[in-house]
Amino acid sequence: MAALVVGHKNPDTDSVISAIAVADLMSKRGIASKPIIQGPVVPETAFVLDKFGLSAPEVVTSVAGNQVILVDHSDLAQAPADLKDAEVIAVVDHHKLGDVTTSSPLLMWVWPAGCTGTVIKAMYDFYGIEMPKNIAGGCLCAILSDTVIFKSPTTTEDDKKAVQDLAKIAGVADYQALGMEMFKVKSAVDGVPPKELVFRDYKDFDMNGKKVGIGQLEMIDISMVDGIKGQLMTELAAVKADGRHSVFLLLTDIMKEGSEMLICTDDPSVVKKAFGVDGDKSVWLPKVMSRKKDVVPKFEAAFKG
Ligand code: MG
Ligand code: MG
Ligand code: MG
Repeated sequence: MAALVVGHKNPDTDSVISAIAVADLMSKRGIASKPIIQGPVVPETAFVLDKFGLSAPEVVTSVAGNQVILVDHSDLAQAPADLKDAEVIAVVDHHKLGDVTTSSPLLMWVWPAGCTGTVIKAMYDFYGIEMPKNIAGGCLCAILSDTVIFKSPTTTEDDKKAVQDLAKIAGVADYQALGMEMFKVKSAVDGVPPKELVFRDYKDFDMNGKKVGIGQLEMIDISMVDGIKGQLMTELAAVKADGRHSVFLLLTDIMKEGSEMLICTDDPSVVKKAFGVDGDKSVWLPKVMSRKKDVVPKFEAAFKG
């Protein structure tokens, strides 16, 4: 039975492409592997798959009884619910180490890079396996997406080097232009139900025993959502009512390089503690681009004290 390679819930481009790439690499190393995803692909990912002639992996949410390779996460909250009944044989990721444990030794490729795609490029090089052109194109886009075309503070020199190399393999002459084309697709919110927007790039966290949800929409111009902020707030309230202490939605403007954060909490003092600004419905946070680096650590500290 093939090992299942899976990224986090609410899959983003990195989670989808990394599952495809690691399944390719592992299979070529003699470990039959199959990419899966935990939910449907978002428009940005559909654009990337189409651009490079890749197919979307099958949506599978149960992994019990299988060998599993986790990509782009190692938190149980973001993994398939029955992961405890599976055997994790590898983790390939670029986040803080999560709470997954194993009973046998495992392969770990976890780097503090801007994207799993960067780690995967290094894996192909390490194992001396040629990366297929279409997978290189996918990884290239994953890095441009996760690093917001190098504007995110999560960007490392390794990411920039990987992009140069991957662009060559994929035959992409102007990766900046490709990145902007991709972010234009990502920015399209017209006619999308507000609930879908809230969950498009959404993660739950346990912060000092409290369940906290943080969503993010990255856009070329956040004024595009001006007309639907009220509806987004209504959705946030519904998500919060479903067993959460707080729910936040980052509206990240990649040109202005900052985020407006929509707030839904019983305790607005956590926002003041985390960011030093007052606001009970919304605040503008200059320079805040990355949920992982600019937001989660600040809230974790704020929730502690
Ligand atoms: Mg991701
Ligand atoms: Mg990622
Ligand atoms: Mg992201």
